[in-house]
Amino acid sequence: MTDTDRTTADRDRRARQTAERFQEVYGAAPTGVWAAPGRVNLIGEHTDYNDGFVMPLALPHTTLAAAAPRTDGVLRVHSGDSSGNGQIAELRLDALHPASDGGWAGYPAGIAWALREAGLPVGGADLHYDSTVPVGAGLSSSAALEVVTALALDDLYALGLARQRLAQLAQRAENAFVGVPCGIMDQTAAACCTDGHALFLDTRDLTQRQVPFDLAGEGLRLLVVDTRVKHELGDGAYAQRRAMCERGARALGVHALRDVPYAQLPAALDRLAAETGAPGDGAPGDGAPDVQAVVRHVVTENRRVEDVIARLDAGDTRAIGPLLTVGHASLRDDFRVSCAELDLAVEAAGAAGALGARMTGGGFGGSAVVLVEEPAADAVAARVTEAFAAAGYAAPRIFPAVPSAGARRLV
Ligand code: ADP
Ligand code: MG
Repeated sequence: MTDTDRTTADRDRRARQTAERFQEVYGAAPTGVWAAPGRVNLIGEHTDYNDGFVMPLALPHTTLAAAAPRTDGVLRVHSGDSSGNGQIAELRLDALHPASDGGWAGYPAGIAWALREAGLPVGGADLHYDSTVPVGAGLSSSAALEVVTALALDDLYALGLARQRLAQLAQRAENAFVGVPCGIMDQTAAACCTDGHALFLDTRDLTQRQVPFDLAGEGLRLLVVDTRVKHELGDGAYAQRRAMCERGARALGVHALRDVPYAQLPAALDRLAAETGAPGDGAPGDGAPDVQAVVRHVVTENRRVEDVIARLDAGDTRAIGPLLTVGHASLRDDFRVSCAELDLAVEAAGAAGALGARMTGGGFGGSAVVLVEEPAADAVAARVTEAFAAAGYAAPRIFPAVPSAGARRLV
């Protein structure tokens, strides 16, 4: 099985294999096969819960779902991924309630629950999944799983839901059913991205714009460096950063940090220093940032998204490199969500001549993105791998992020 479905033939083969596997598992052919991708975020990190800007792109790695409707109100799910241990999970739709057992089936069950909660006439289904999205690598395998399920049910029950609505329902499933307090970026990326583009999303009003991102045409490559680590403190730190953002917004008298204009950042930081008495230039001791630093990250990060778009619109893709690297420094020093492995990936890539690099996703492990000249890509990847070996870290997984299509029906 190919990793990234590079060609139409690859995609067709995988769709066929997924349908065949469905038939083996459930003893009948599926009605169809659907796909939803993983994603990387090019820029705009930890902004989606501050009503800010994000700019993800879909990866060629996808989660496929072969599915057929059932008439008895039962949802059965089976995954080729090891998370499912090869077992079919069977759930009654009318007995679904949030915070079930914490297993992987909570994601598809959460989708059925969210659709029904929204009053949509969704019935039972059999689903089999096959995924090439790395799990737990910060590439949003969870949103791919949610969105492919939502799209399959949308089609099976002719719900006619718009893509952004599918994404919102998927976010609701993850927030309220699975219990992960994620923003709207990942589900929107999986549902709405298009081939050859990065997706600009304003998370306040959910307006979108497909921004052409023709890496290959410009002789560039965006590498994903999956560090293969996930540090335990991630979940608690995420909640803490969210709370600090809310505290900052409250102290500044705004609804969300999105409402602090870049030009007013110095004044906002002065006001916070006066109110909190904190110096605004360091951590209070437990590794957490102070509120000024958190505000500074969010406000400057929103600005960086706008700057990246301006440079892409001007046809100067190379010029986004430094913005990525400055964005990493802001996540590392101000927002404090990086880790040694991510910092090393960014540093080694820069030393090897990359145009820019940053951690992507929530942080504390997961993946980094590296913008490189195409001819230098292999050498940069090799240097990052060497640096990991020299530091005694496990070898990272490095592959190109080709801007790919969002969720779709394959068969
Ligand atoms: P990420 O979204 O960054 O990959 P998460 O921790 O948010 O990491 O989501 C990973 C979880 O999603 C897995 O532990 C598993 O429960 C579920 N998951 C994702 N893809 C699949 C799949 N193909 N089959 C079964 N479970 C999956
Ligand atoms: Mg996730």
